[in-house]
This record gives sequence, structure tokens and C-alpha cells, in this order.
Amino acid sequence: MGSVRSDNNYDVIIAGGGMVGSSLALALEPLGLSVAIVEPVARTSMSQPSFDDRSTALSRSTQRMFEAMGLWHEIVAAATPISSIHVSDKGRFGFSHIDAEEQGVEALGYVVINRVLGGVLQAALENVATLDFFCPARIVAASCGSETVMVTTADDHGKSGNLTCKLLVAADGANSSVREMLGITAKQVAYGQRAIIGNVLTEKPLNNCAYERFTADGPLALLPVVDERAGFVWTVSEQDADRVLGLDDQAFLAEMQQSFGYRLGSFSKVGKRASYPLALSKALRLTAQRAVLVGNAAHGLHPVAAQGFNLGLRDVAALCDCIADTLHESGSIADIGNAELLARYAQWRSSDQKKLVGFTDGIVRLFSSSRAPVRLLRDVGMLGFDLVPGVRSLFAKHTMGLAGHLPRLSRGVPLS
Ligand SMILES: Cc1cc2nc3c(=O)[nH]c(=O)nc-3n(C[C@H](O)[C@H](O)[C@H](O)COP(=O)(O)OP(=O)(O)OC[C@H]3O[C@@H](n4cnc5c(N)ncnc54)[C@H](O)[C@@H]3O)c2cc1C
Repeated sequence: MGSVRSDNNYDVIIAGGGMVGSSLALALEPLGLSVAIVEPVARTSMSQPSFDDRSTALSRSTQRMFEAMGLWHEIVAAATPISSIHVSDKGRFGFSHIDAEEQGVEALGYVVINRVLGGVLQAALENVATLDFFCPARIVAASCGSETVMVTTADDHGKSGNLTCKLLVAADGANSSVREMLGITAKQVAYGQRAIIGNVLTEKPLNNCAYERFTADGPLALLPVVDERAGFVWTVSEQDADRVLGLDDQAFLAEMQQSFGYRLGSFSKVGKRASYPLALSKALRLTAQRAVLVGNAAHGLHPVAAQGFNLGLRDVAALCDCIADTLHESGSIADIGNAELLARYAQWRSSDQKKLVGFTDGIVRLFSSSRAPVRLLRDVGMLGFDLVPGVRSLFAKHTMGLAGHLPRLSRGVPLS
């Protein structure tokens, strides 16, 4: 890739080329802005932390966005549709069921392996003529002024350089160091749980159904993935995580089976496992002078509702809308990152983020409590969920990412 800006002066600099940062660079392409991504992990590395072996459930709003960006046909070719969701509570009667047909959609969402999605995004980035990739390199300092932001980068050999931009976007994940450089504090609360991921063969087919089972230690989700296998996200307590990860295949399968039960028959052939400590993080502000936060840098969620990436993409869509409108109204690139744009972005995103943070945190706490009044609330909640008209539809709408005022890309409308 040649250098777009020999003077290292860009319209937008994105810190982090993970799932959200890469998607932002691609979404901005139609606006013709010069963009730089700064990413510490080599793009070809198998250890890229964002594009790993997790399976991610993509919501309808994410599907529409990738459609509008012209990437969906490649993603869907490697994805599995979710036609229903089955939610149950271990040791209690009853379950809830959400169905695509009942909601009037062809699928509630699609499951894709992060590594595959990463491959599609990275191949597309190669063709963006207005993009420079500084990789491997990390941002080590940022200084925000009224006209520009100056960032200092350092590569693995300690070689440093300076870049300037009109708008700095922090997409460097839940432990964002750029957020810290911008002087933005994040509230972080550890759940005392770890998510173990991998895939497994089930005796009965999932038939495109996603299962979520709540247990005393946390939820266990089984997602339909390609080759008739199920991708699992099994939440275990932090104290027990090392022991569970150390189990041999047979013992691991037996314990997971015990948690899930036999609704899908016997489990066999478990693949490689990896684990993620779970915490809630929420930035106290979404903007600083000529800078914004997107994705996990703004909000890190428990994976229980499979919404973190989907929410991050709605940040991206809203930011692109704000930038496109500013360019349309003033025609001046200097206005990207002005105070009005930042205020509009922050106001637009805060409600969606607040709702989903509250929603996922609420589910985790509700279902992990064994206190009798909470258990009663849970039973009533499950009943209400199934019986009160409209509640299930509203839940489905949130799951599909279709609630609230959606930006153009999330509605499937291209930016150009
Ligand atoms: C087990 C599990 C299952 C999940 N399942 C789902 C799901 O089904 N659906 C869903 O929507 N979400 C899901 N999520 C959430 C989703 O994975 C995250 O929301 C998403 O990966 C966030 O992407 P990001 O690009 O914001 O951050 P990250 O993926 O953390 O990427 C950050 C990037 O920034 C880079 N970086 C770090 N420091 C610097 C620096 N100083 N300068 C520049 N770059 C830097 C990193 O190398 C990385 O590439 C799940 C999460 C977990 C843990």
C-alpha cells in the first residue's frame, strides 16, 4: 500500500484496526477522506486479538450495514442464519422462544467466525485508496488542539513518528490506552466470570436455532455454525475457570453437558478452547476535543446478549452519518471533529449504549442470583416475557439492533 499522505496529515486517524476500527475505515471510504489506521498487531498474525476463533452473532442492523457497504455477500457466504432463539433457565421449568417467522424476518441474525469476518474486512481494506495502515505500531501519545490532533506512534523497535488529523477515533478496545490519553475515565466492573469458547458436535442438529441456557455460574450459549457444529460460549466463575480449562476433552464435555442438559442429545468432539475474562466497562464521556470513542473503547459488554460488536457498529454508523452531514452542510473538511459534530455523536449514541449496557448487565445479575426474591422475579420475568404481548417483539427488536433512531448505514442506506 502506498502512502496517501506524505506529510502524515490525515482527515481521520483510527486507533485500532480490530473489528470496529477496520469497519469504520471501510464505512468512511465513500466520503473520500484520507484515513490512517494505527494497529499494534501485524495484520497477518494469527494472534490478532479481534479476529480470533470466537463466533459472533451479527444482528439485522449489522447485516444491513454490511449490505450498504457492499460486503455482505462475502460475509453471508461464510455465515449461518439464526432462525430461532431458545432461552432456558437450568433447574427451572419453562423456556422462551423467539422465531424469525413470527417476527416477519428471514433470520434473526447470522453467526460468523471472527477470523473469517476479519479476512473479509482486511481484504477489503487493501482496496481503499485513501487509507494508510501503520502496522505494527501503537499510539503512545495524543495531544488535542482546537484545529488538529497530533498523535505519536511507536513501532516494535521503539521507532517513533508523528501524525496529525482533524479527528481521532479511539477503537482500541475495552482497555483503551488512547481513551486514557484523552483524559476519559471508564467505569470498569469485573463480573468474576470467564467465557470459555470453542466448538462441539451435538447429537441432534441445531437446525439454525441459537440456545441460551442460564446456570448458577452464568449463561451457556450454543450457536449454529458451519459444518453442523455448535459454537459455544460457556461462562464459568473466575475461581473455577483454570480448572475447567485444564480438563481433558472427555471431562470437559461431561461438565458442559451437565450444565446444558440433553436437549440436543450428547456432546462430542470438542475443539480447541480459549477464554476471556468478563467485565463491564463504560466510558464516562464519549468525546474529547477533536476525538471520539467507538466500539469496546466506549463500552465493553458481557457476551450474554451477543451485542458488543453490533453496538460498536452502530457507533460507527452514527459517526459516519455525523461526518457526512457536516461535510454536506459546511463543505469544509476542517469541520470534521468540530464541537457540534462531537456533541451530536455523543447525544445520539448515549441512549442506545445506556440501554444495552443496562440490559446486558441486568440479565447477568438477574440470572446469576440464587436469592429467593430474585428467583421469583426471574420466573415472573420469563412468564411476562412469553405472555405479555409486545414484550417478546421488543426484545427481538433490541436483539436485531432495530430499536431506536437508526443511522443511515444501520438502515442499509449507503453513505454516498
Ligand atoms: C466470548 C465473547 C463472545 C462475543 N460474542 C459476540 C457476539 O456474538 N456478538 C457481538 O455483537 N459481540 C460479541 N462479542 C463482543 C465483541 O467481540 C466485541 O464487542 C468486539 O470485538 C469489539 O471490537 P473492537 O474493535 O471495539 O475492540 P477489539 O476487538 O478489542 O480490538 C481493538 C484493537 O485495537 C488494537 N489496539 C490496542 N491498543 C492499541 C493502541 N494503543 N493503539 C492502537 N491500537 C491498539 C488491538 O490490537 C485490537 O486490534 C463477544 C465478546 C466475547 C469476549
